[in-house]
Amino acid sequence: DLGRLGGLSSFIYYVLGKGLCEIAAMSVQVLAAEMAEVELKDVPIESEPKAVATSATTPTMEPIVKTGDPSPGFLTPNTKMPQASAMKRTDPQQNGGEAFVNRDGTVAEAPRLKKIQFADQKQEFNKRPTKIGRRSLSRSISQSSTDSYGSAASYTDSSDDETSPRDKQQKNSKGNGDFCIKNIKQADFGRREIEIAEQEMPALMALRKRAQGEKPLAGAKVVGCTHITAQTAVLMETLSALGAQCRWAACNIYSTQNEVAAALAEGGFSVFAWKGESEDDFWWCIDRCVNLEGWQPNMILDDGGDLTHWIYKKYPNMFKKIKGIVEESVTGVHRLYQLSKAGKLCVPAMNVNDSVTKQKFDNLYCCRESILDGLKRTTDVMFGGKQVVVCGYGEVGKGCCAALKAMGSIVYVTEIDPICALQACMDGFRLVKLSEVIRQVDIVITCTGNKNVVVREYLDRMKNGCIVCNMGHSNTEIDVASLRTPELTWERVRSQVDHVIWPDGKRIVLLAEGRLLNLSCSTVPTFVLSITATTQALALIELYNAPEGRYKQDVYLLPKKMDEYVASLHLPTFDAHLTELSDEQAKYLGLNKNGPFKPNYYR
Ligand code: NAD
Repeated sequence: DLGRLGGLSSFIYYVLGKGLCEIAAMSVQVLAAEMAEVELKDVPIESEPKAVATSATTPTMEPIVKTGDPSPGFLTPNTKMPQASAMKRTDPQQNGGEAFVNRDGTVAEAPRLKKIQFADQKQEFNKRPTKIGRRSLSRSISQSSTDSYGSAASYTDSSDDETSPRDKQQKNSKGNGDFCIKNIKQADFGRREIEIAEQEMPALMALRKRAQGEKPLAGAKVVGCTHITAQTAVLMETLSALGAQCRWAACNIYSTQNEVAAALAEGGFSVFAWKGESEDDFWWCIDRCVNLEGWQPNMILDDGGDLTHWIYKKYPNMFKKIKGIVEESVTGVHRLYQLSKAGKLCVPAMNVNDSVTKQKFDNLYCCRESILDGLKRTTDVMFGGKQVVVCGYGEVGKGCCAALKAMGSIVYVTEIDPICALQACMDGFRLVKLSEVIRQVDIVITCTGNKNVVVREYLDRMKNGCIVCNMGHSNTEIDVASLRTPELTWERVRSQVDHVIWPDGKRIVLLAEGRLLNLSCSTVPTFVLSITATTQALALIELYNAPEGRYKQDVYLLPKKMDEYVASLHLPTFDAHLTELSDEQAKYLGLNKNGPFKPNYYR
């Protein structure tokens, strides 16, 4: 029904070459009942932005719509995409500092021991007292935004310049100063990073090419809050090529690649982000994105829900003009469902996190590739012959186990679910209880999405030198708080690497203070991020162009056909040749020859 697709139809028609668009019904699983309560009223906003919202009341909307909302379908594209070529990164200058050496198994002398320094006492990134002081917000930004995966490591070290970007007046070469970043002089280096990322993001590049002349986002004013990395830059520049104006802040205080932010600012994007923001800076940057005279966003692209939250609390009237929210992270999506359940969601939202392409690629392949990177960069550990226990054999656990097994590690798995447990067994892993192996393992990795999986009792029993890290979405899996006791000494040996030392000299190696290892200590594969970024771009196009009434104030999943389209845009990279259904086969299976090929519930 091309007519119903309105302005978008020509773009999609153009993108797909030729074809029909079909309306696919889609189910939205409302997970609200299982979610942790997120109550906006409990979150104090401490900074007073300059412009004030006129009303604090959020319009009350209809209750959650569970199923059957129509969404457009898309055909498999029939055009070839440019081939991506393998690229090597330039020499990374990450994680400088000395390597720790403590592998002899003996009780070590500790000449360099320092007194324990608790995280909340450190002001590592908060050296600049701001106007609003340092009272911490009741919702931790770092926790809320660690469940999405940017290519987090920055290749430039900004420690040489202590001046806060907020105290600097910078302009790009065209005299534009509507940005706040670390150092505009790093733009050339950032541009090279972006060019490298473009090689591995074929679908976005294809969208750009195909949308020349066709601007499905013309008039869109997108305010974004995501990791600011080379991959995000490729997304932002694609959105711009499709017609959108963008203003952007970082969703994580550590993950901004300063040089990339500089390249974006040089290219005319209003970016407010730098690596090592304080919490005050974090909210200030978000506010600078939305609080601007003469400019109001009409689309939100969020990762973690902080931007959405800020607009809800400070500028609820903005929602009158906002056409939709696209949210990437687990936490952000949970918050949207909560709002929906409470009848407070006032615009349609797309849940990108649960789209099948994101889940299948981010969780499994991303972790399969980045677990080794994160461990290696932080500890220089050799994997061959090492005993590793992986807690949780879901998608992330499967990826970690596969990588470690391939490197010759002896891998144990813990699980609570007999199905995943059986899968672990059939994949050749020993299924154990953590208590059975905790004394002997060299590495402990959590990937359950649960809390208190590794508790103090286990930490006490680990052997000297045991490496402990987390790949799950928040820092709840390892009970790090239980290690902040006076008898234990913490020694920071590298960026993101702490030795926690017991009174008898035993030390464990805690990575990223129990936060996501790959997000904190390594990069993640650009190609995987390309899949998510393409999904985000299509979700924005869809929500922006949807005719009145197609979407209600609810949370939606992208239809299967759009997932299939995202996947198909990436296939030419591999010179993959997809088989087409014959008429007879399509009839036999009861499918449309052009998809969707699986039901919406298929995972
Ligand atoms: P999943 O639900 O597929 O797998 C988690 C597994 O852990 C399940 O099989 C569950 O039965 C098991 N589990 C739960 N509690 C347990 C316990 N106490 N002991 C042992 N096993 C337990 O989820 P997933 O897709 O594998 O994601 C896991 C976590 O990783 C989530 O928090 C997710 O947000 C996060 N994640 C991380 C990355 C990354 O790049 N690091 C990428 C995607 C997802």
